[in-house]
Amino acid sequence: MAGRQSKANPTQYTTLKVRLYPNAEQMALFEKTFGCCRYIWNQMLSDQQRFYAETGAFFIPTPAKYKNEASFLKEVDSQALIQEHNKLNQAFRVFFKDPEHFGHPNFKRKKTDRDSFTACNHEFTSGPTIYITKDGVRMTKAGIVRAKFSRRPQGWWKLKRITVEKTRSGKYYGYILYENTDKMPVPVTPSEDTTLGLKYSMRHFYVDSSGAAADPPQWRKVSQDKLAKIQRSLNRKQPGSKNYQETVQKFYRLHEHITNQRRDYVHKESRRIANAWDAVCMRADEMRELDKITSLGNVGDSGFGMFRECLRYKLARQGKQLLIVDRYFPSTRTCFVCETVMPVEISTRRRTWTCPHCGAVLKREENAALNIKAQGLAQYFRMQEQRQSA
Ligand SMILES: [Zn+2]
Repeated sequence: MAGRQSKANPTQYTTLKVRLYPNAEQMALFEKTFGCCRYIWNQMLSDQQRFYAETGAFFIPTPAKYKNEASFLKEVDSQALIQEHNKLNQAFRVFFKDPEHFGHPNFKRKKTDRDSFTACNHEFTSGPTIYITKDGVRMTKAGIVRAKFSRRPQGWWKLKRITVEKTRSGKYYGYILYENTDKMPVPVTPSEDTTLGLKYSMRHFYVDSSGAAADPPQWRKVSQDKLAKIQRSLNRKQPGSKNYQETVQKFYRLHEHITNQRRDYVHKESRRIANAWDAVCMRADEMRELDKITSLGNVGDSGFGMFRECLRYKLARQGKQLLIVDRYFPSTRTCFVCETVMPVEISTRRRTWTCPHCGAVLKREENAALNIKAQGLAQYFRMQEQRQSA
């Protein structure tokens, strides 16, 4: 295809503006972060001035220096504080270069300066620290903040940083900066041998078209048992007592631990699949519905919706595709061998069933994954044909 070959372009950036809808807890954290950023900026600036007056040299201390005297700084994302240091350095750099146009950096005041903070994304092997989900933005400390996107990033763009801002009228916006450099990756054409079908499974997380099951590490079962135990012991304690408070803290720590484990697992597993296969087929199940079914409070979130989003962008960065099959496609009750569609759904309690038409003995979830794969690929080739004839 002409024009789709990769060209080495200079780095380009795109900013997506999204409306953020933080909950009460996240709002409180944002307020604290705005305040800390203003505080650290003013502290660094005043120390810089003092140092300059005493020695005549230019120097800005790093945020770490202030954390012991002002322990409240430890409660917010340290990335946001580091960014204030970078911003102040940058403000001096342009001021030294062109003092006519850029004034001397000023102290920040709550009344006149806008509430905002910036945090950079870091890509660890377990996944990035900042990323977007279907209807939210995940940030360090705040977790997933609900968001409304008027535009979505392309799968191969790289999220660099986010600036959170609060308007005078009390609305929150996120400015997400993407590096959309490189180049659009060369599209990969999938084949039957290089395509994987995935079926969501309550028991195994997913079962794929080769019959393999994900079986994530025990985090779901073990952690949920532990959570239930803490909840039971909370019921026996006097609310407000020291004992009660300690147990609540224990609950939050475990909760956070489960969330992190789930995140690590989802990122590793989606990366493994995206690297190994040319295309992945899934059914467009309503993920929120699925998460509701498996939910136990909000910790029972299966993570499957996040898994799908991760797969989508990890495949897209390599020019590969996530092929989504209609959510009403009868993947489970269609016999993969003879394509007979059964009139009623196969019970989730049955691991296998026998096709009355051809006699094939089918594993329920593997059969569904095979059908999803066949349907996804058929859709893909149909679309390619239409494109070529157009
Ligand atoms: Zn059959």
